[in-house]
Amino acid sequence: MLKLLRVNLDKQNWAFEQLSPEYEKLGGRALSSQIINKEVPPTVDALDPQNKLIFAAGILAGTNFPNSGRLSIGAKSPLTGGIKEANAGGNAAQKLAKLGIQAVVLEGCANSLTTLKIDNDGVSFTEAAPIKGFGNYQIIEDLKKEHGDKVSIISIGSAGESRLKAASISVTSPDFHIRMAARGGLGAVMGSKNIKALVIDNQGSKGVEIKDKATFKTAVSKFTKGVLAYPMIEALKVFGTPVLVNMINGMGCMPTRNFSVGQFDGAQKISGEHIAELMAKRPNSVADHKCMSGCVIGCSNVFTDEKGEVIVSGLEYESIVLTGSNCMIDDIDMIAKINRACNDIGVDTMDVGAAIALAMEADILTMGDGNGALALVNEIREGSENGLMIGNGCKVTGEKLGSKRIPQVKGQGLAAYDPRGLKGTGTTYATSAMGADHTVGNAIPNPLSQYDPSSPEGQWEMSSFLQIYHAAIDSLGLCLFASLPALDFADLQGHMVQGVAAMTGETLDKDYIMQLGTTVLKAEKEFNTKAGFTKEDDRLPEFFKQEPLLPSGNVFDVTDENLDKVNAF
Ligand code: SF4
Repeated sequence: MLKLLRVNLDKQNWAFEQLSPEYEKLGGRALSSQIINKEVPPTVDALDPQNKLIFAAGILAGTNFPNSGRLSIGAKSPLTGGIKEANAGGNAAQKLAKLGIQAVVLEGCANSLTTLKIDNDGVSFTEAAPIKGFGNYQIIEDLKKEHGDKVSIISIGSAGESRLKAASISVTSPDFHIRMAARGGLGAVMGSKNIKALVIDNQGSKGVEIKDKATFKTAVSKFTKGVLAYPMIEALKVFGTPVLVNMINGMGCMPTRNFSVGQFDGAQKISGEHIAELMAKRPNSVADHKCMSGCVIGCSNVFTDEKGEVIVSGLEYESIVLTGSNCMIDDIDMIAKINRACNDIGVDTMDVGAAIALAMEADILTMGDGNGALALVNEIREGSENGLMIGNGCKVTGEKLGSKRIPQVKGQGLAAYDPRGLKGTGTTYATSAMGADHTVGNAIPNPLSQYDPSSPEGQWEMSSFLQIYHAAIDSLGLCLFASLPALDFADLQGHMVQGVAAMTGETLDKDYIMQLGTTVLKAEKEFNTKAGFTKEDDRLPEFFKQEPLLPSGNVFDVTDENLDKVNAF
């Protein structure tokens, strides 16, 4: 049984704890959300030392179950004021699990900027003054030199230190590229605790115990085969998530010019197909990069310039759209540079991309001005008035600029799917405890389903199901893409359940996934209710209901009555 590692930052001490009955059998988002709901005062300021920052490994972490190393990071969010879980790839979760740690709970606040090292001997604390103000790329280089290349590094850039509401947390991939737990401003919570970085080193650890190795091996093998046979997986391997550009643009649902149009004239220049062509010609580019060991898909990439210098890894659909089409920028190299700057400073490309579009709409810079957008992002680092504005995300930016068209729910910017054409996704944006988020229940139609995303009917049912399902997937620590095939093929869900049962020795039935997901959502909703959220917070901004999305003419017309039915436990 894995343990909880509690770190008291005020006193610089730590202790391992057995998981109490209310936490045992949980991992990932289920565990982080349960801890926040039980232990964080719901109305406390998110940057108060009473907030806790949790790094939770998924239930399957540390094993060779495919794509099972996502790290869930949870806290009360400074961006939304509600409960938050943001997860990232990389190797940190697998290393924590191998060290026997299901979750690390950071409590209180260090007296000065500190780096934590977690290894087989426990926790050590180091003064981080020498790396104060550093960007994530430099921190990773320095800490890798100091601790070797077998570790995983979790860090914040200057935005987290400055406690900006769009600050993210970086987690390294096995080859030390950056993966981001981007959403909800959790980097600001880490900054408020005076923690600059965590170094996770599992050398000498025992690894994770599997109770029934033979059955586990069978589950791994059948699940892997099923995932690889799924039609969409091949496209993800070849083009990565940017394959969605042509698909979502073709549906007329790709946010363009601050969510005013659903199709972008420059889509081809930012598409997965074009990126793949460029990468094929550029030295050192990698089209099927794996963000964690044990990934069987490789949807990530390493995007280089013409000389072979790495610009960014991975260049993802969400970042491309929010800092690209949504700002009318069609230069993929410039988008990659903006992405790199956001990664270095440690801010969410989605919230900051939406903020840049609002600044463009307010004539602070010209729509489509890539150089201006990059300079504005770099102003976050410098701490200028406009830099601090966009570093606090799209809600703060829109309100400061007097915009009536702020694409946010519960303070968090919408992801890269327009809710007027993708109404199931819009229903999730509106009703999730997390604020507008694409990983918590994104209803994208696929060729195997009859689902109509543009009808107002059937969306609360679709969103309810997907929100429960993805809450469970986030708790297992599985990557979203490995979990998609199981939506169409129930036997793959069975292999997931079989994998957990074989690992833990429990007897689990076929309802395990939905029961686990329901537990998570109940805890999250309970916390938000205690924090003061009401049904009125489960709504999209008015402009999505009133402004037709061109070219389809769709508006978001799922009724409030149906929104209120979503997971009304
Ligand atoms: S499929 Fe993509 S996101 Fe998932 S584990 Fe592999 S590289 Fe990471």
